[in-house]
Amino acid sequence: MSVSRRASEKTIRVWNGEELSPGSSGDFWLDISESYSSVTVKVPVHIRRSDKDGPTVFLTGALHGDELNGTGIIRALLRDPELRLRKGALLAIPVLNLLAFERHSRYLPDRRDLNRAFPGSATGTLASRMARTIFDEVVARCDYGIDLHTAAVRRTNYPTVRADLSDPGVGLLANAFGCEVIQNCGGPKGSLRREASKAGCPTIVMEGGEVWKVEPDIVEAGVRGVKNVLRSLDMLDCNTQRPDYQVNIEKTKWVRADRGGFLHFHIIPGDIVEKGQPLATNTTLLGREQSVVGAPFDAVVLGMTTLPAINPGEPICNLGRLPKGTRAFDLRQLRKRSGDLEERVAESLGSSVLVVEPNSESSC
Ligand SMILES: [Zn+2]
Repeated sequence: MSVSRRASEKTIRVWNGEELSPGSSGDFWLDISESYSSVTVKVPVHIRRSDKDGPTVFLTGALHGDELNGTGIIRALLRDPELRLRKGALLAIPVLNLLAFERHSRYLPDRRDLNRAFPGSATGTLASRMARTIFDEVVARCDYGIDLHTAAVRRTNYPTVRADLSDPGVGLLANAFGCEVIQNCGGPKGSLRREASKAGCPTIVMEGGEVWKVEPDIVEAGVRGVKNVLRSLDMLDCNTQRPDYQVNIEKTKWVRADRGGFLHFHIIPGDIVEKGQPLATNTTLLGREQSVVGAPFDAVVLGMTTLPAINPGEPICNLGRLPKGTRAFDLRQLRKRSGDLEERVAESLGSSVLVVEPNSESSC
């Protein structure tokens, strides 16, 4: 259902009988569930509407309740003086999964993942009912969506757009967002991104940073990306800011530890590595080298563990294989890395792990 159509009406109905006229904005509450104490759980939503018809875009954070960078990105955007819409409307939801957010958790109180429950059912589980409400009241009103996430607990992610590039609308958003890395994948069954796109509302995910933090450089990257998308939809007047290059990743692989031990890292998120390049050295607690873990192919480091203590089979880093014909060396040359946003993001994410040269004395 297109909201472009709805936007042509003089006034749109929001929720609970509230209305929003063209050219105005407001804060609203979406009834999403009820607490153990029978209190209605209401999700705060900011809606900003131009006086001209145009696309309606949803922007969601904390669908996983512990992933707060998206919340920080949306809060920064709402304060941004450049966010004056030329046309269309924006539905901004800093915390979508309020029940999980209240518990500082990825999951709902019944331990289910809301981001596997879409499009949901009015008679299903807690997650399924909430998903249904979000789908009917938010997704169905929108033409496009951007869902903001972080890595899972004890990991960090380099800013990456995840998108199903076989969908032209999704591809448009993914390219416009302006992350260096676009990971081409359909998304898990029941995820907001996948089900919204399937229902005719092209939606992308941005991944960046860690849980339980609002990281300044990730916020900057997210704000830049959202504004780039709105600009590409002709909804904003601001300048588009692009990275030095973009690469589409078709295949990813978690590199795992072969032995239990304590890791010395040789890479940070965003690094471009060549096949065989050391990623981490697995050592005993007294610093004796057990093994060196190398890159299985030319790749970009999409994410990595921040916890150096590791068991056999546990993930060390997530690599995105560079496309055929793209060499790590060439990509490094394209990267100016002279104080630009990508460099600052990589440095700040890398500052949460100790990185040493392979075989260096300091690694002991
Ligand atoms: Zn997430």
